[in-house]
Amino acid sequence: MKKIEEVLKDWEPVIGLEVHCELTKLETKMFCGCKLEFGAAPNTHTCPVCLGLPGALPVPNKAAIESIVLAGLATNCDIEKHTMFYRKGYMYPDMAKNFQTTQGPKAFCMRGHLDLDVDEKNINERYGVAELAPGETFENVTRTEDGYTAKVGITRIHMEEDAGKMIHVGGAEGRIEGATHSLVDYNRAGTPLIELVTEPDLRSPEEARLFMEKLRQIFLALNISDCSMEEGSIRADGNISLRRRGTDQLGTKTELKNINSFKSLHDGLLYEICRQAEVLEEGGVIYQETRHWDASKKRTIVMRTKETADDYRMFPDPDLAPYDLSDEFIERVRAKLPELPDQKVKRFQETWSLSAYDARHLVEHRVTANFFEACMETADAKLAKPLANLIINDLAAMANDGLDLSASPLSPARAVELVGLLASDAISSKQGKQVLAAVLDEDKDPAQIVEEKGMKQVSDTGALEAVIDKVLADNPDKVAAYKGGKTGLLGFFVGQCMKATRGQGNPKLINQMLAQKLNG
Ligand code: ADP
Ligand code: ZN
Ligand code: MG
Repeated sequence: MKKIEEVLKDWEPVIGLEVHCELTKLETKMFCGCKLEFGAAPNTHTCPVCLGLPGALPVPNKAAIESIVLAGLATNCDIEKHTMFYRKGYMYPDMAKNFQTTQGPKAFCMRGHLDLDVDEKNINERYGVAELAPGETFENVTRTEDGYTAKVGITRIHMEEDAGKMIHVGGAEGRIEGATHSLVDYNRAGTPLIELVTEPDLRSPEEARLFMEKLRQIFLALNISDCSMEEGSIRADGNISLRRRGTDQLGTKTELKNINSFKSLHDGLLYEICRQAEVLEEGGVIYQETRHWDASKKRTIVMRTKETADDYRMFPDPDLAPYDLSDEFIERVRAKLPELPDQKVKRFQETWSLSAYDARHLVEHRVTANFFEACMETADAKLAKPLANLIINDLAAMANDGLDLSASPLSPARAVELVGLLASDAISSKQGKQVLAAVLDEDKDPAQIVEEKGMKQVSDTGALEAVIDKVLADNPDKVAAYKGGKTGLLGFFVGQCMKATRGQGNPKLINQMLAQKLNG
């Protein structure tokens, strides 16, 4: 298969996502009073409604409707006041009712959008954007100072319910093939679920990943779900097709299902772009099919092909009256909207003069955003930028690897102290990394570690001058080469001086003094 960079020269990927999110923060199920609880003993949270017994009548969960309206308002959707629930034919033992209650052509939330901020390093994945000047717009994309913003349409967000869970016994790895019998647990049946469908507006795997990240940040801020990919409370299906650059017509899509991480979504889509390009370039056709991403084998495989449109026999549910959301209800929900990630980014930029890039990456995770804010309660405003650097470049990766920032030996106060030492040139950036590691390891204050390890940076110009003179005297040929125009050798001289001071020289000062001597 060709590499992605090659493929992108001739083909434009077109991607749309379907995202399911369980409203795990609710107390009870969608249409009955059964408790929502992950991991409870099988079939302990069931009743006549979620078991589909004859005559049992559903009652919608008002808190669930509030959650979906919150989700719609936070993603710039129009809230549809008049909607209804439908029955969708579904014959499988994990749903005892033999239908799923869902929504029809009109969902509670329609016609929304999210703006994605994509970093400079990914700019070439969006065709034609690199050539735009900051502020210039092309289709749904605007070039920014440090990348671009893509406006991604949200078709709808509708309300539905989850099915139960099947456990197949006797086969390999719990698969249905070879199983002797199957068990079913209805605890999950009737869990309130929202499904968000995007327009086919995404153009790269990175955009798809960013969309999911952003949606997750929003749902977490709204506190409507724990959004755990591992427990499957948020899951995405990726629809993808290719078309020749410069053409408008959509190609045939495939759908990637059962994606259990944002990285899998990204990698699966990337693979699918290369696979589809190969098929098309060899004169083949893409079949509309559902494929599965196998992360260990790094390829997608066919799950099922779709020959005809599905016929779910949808019809309005006669047990549930049509919905009329009042303006008061919608306004009451709007009043509950918390600060959303985009607003937080803006506040961080305005309050502490951070760049859009820094503010965005701080806000990406709640822990890093909270940590930064805790630091800024005591830190001088001048330290905002170095603190952002520390958090984005070092702490975010450590948090990813399991460091609990809210309870580690590096308290906000210690982070402020460490950054203060760096900003005042008391220690070099390399020493800063050693101090950080030691704080986490030994649970001591940065200043104490600097003291104990004798790490003070040498900023005494007299001492440094002696070192510099010696380095220059030892390398007369390189000095001549530098004066002959090889100015790149400055780095070599700085390196030699750092070595001579065993890493304790102030590199900024050494740089300045060297440049003065060599150019003077
Ligand atoms: P289906 O009828 O197969 O469910 P939909 O039209 O409902 O397809 O769209 C499902 C998802 O697929 C949406 O996110 C949509 O944006 C996306 N989509 C639709 N057509 C294409 C296409 N040709 N290429 C990529 N994505 C597409
Ligand atoms: Zn129930
Ligand atoms: Mg569809």
